[in-house]
Amino acid sequence: MNSVKKTVICGGTHGDELTGVYLAKKHGWLLANPAAAAVRRRYVDRDLNRCFALSELNATGTGNSLELARAREINELLGKKGSETAPDLILDIHNTTANMGITLILSSEHPALLQISAVLAKEFSNIRIYMQKESRDESPYIGTIAKTDVCIEAGPQPHGTLSAELFFDVERVVLRFLELVEAWNNGNLPKREFETFTEMRNIDYPRDEQGNITAMVHPALQGKDFCELKAGMPIFLGFDGKEILWQGETCYPAFINEAAYYEKGIAMSLTRYNKCVL
Ligand SMILES: [Zn+2]
Repeated sequence: MNSVKKTVICGGTHGDELTGVYLAKKHGWLLANPAAAAVRRRYVDRDLNRCFALSELNATGTGNSLELARAREINELLGKKGSETAPDLILDIHNTTANMGITLILSSEHPALLQISAVLAKEFSNIRIYMQKESRDESPYIGTIAKTDVCIEAGPQPHGTLSAELFFDVERVVLRFLELVEAWNNGNLPKREFETFTEMRNIDYPRDEQGNITAMVHPALQGKDFCELKAGMPIFLGFDGKEILWQGETCYPAFINEAAYYEKGIAMSLTRYNKCVL
């Protein structure tokens, strides 16, 4: 059986996502990027959560990047990505400025993760299950050090701030998650129906020839994460006041207008809705 013995909880992988920073401090969990947290920034040199591809962890030289050096340190500390001593599970806590409630991002269809997430989605009304399958070796995310992982995205919360309600919501979910890991190991988890949102692709803002954005998220779409978006519905509003309508397939956007994704060229991620039975 796929039992989950070694679990690591971490927060502050992004230093300005304060729910995870302060939960990690409160509970003695791994504070992944203390240098960035100390200056209340996402990162110091580069995004820590893009440093965990095996080829980067194993290469020589850091390119003077504080984060790559920290990624290698965490990899040593936890028991090395891809090895037998790696953790069974990493739960990594993030915030988003998007209206995503508490979204559990699963990078694999590990049966324990699916069943635990299904129970949590039943118990907490603001939980969504987001499938983002990764080929683990070259995935750059911290969670991929472990054999399987879940990333919590909690929002909306402006980066660099704390919402007390969200703090305690996320704490409750993480502590319940750990109880359910025990229940899974003891074979006591019920099977149930659940809903998932599977990532299809990211889309960028409209841009001019110089690469400057020319439109904003449409007010009718702002805050509508995980709601249906159909062809003909407004998606962007240009600086000239013209509406841009969605012309693609029916989908369910998430990470709508996420502040940290402007630098990544992502206006939102499109997902597909599924109903699943274990
Ligand atoms: Zn983050």
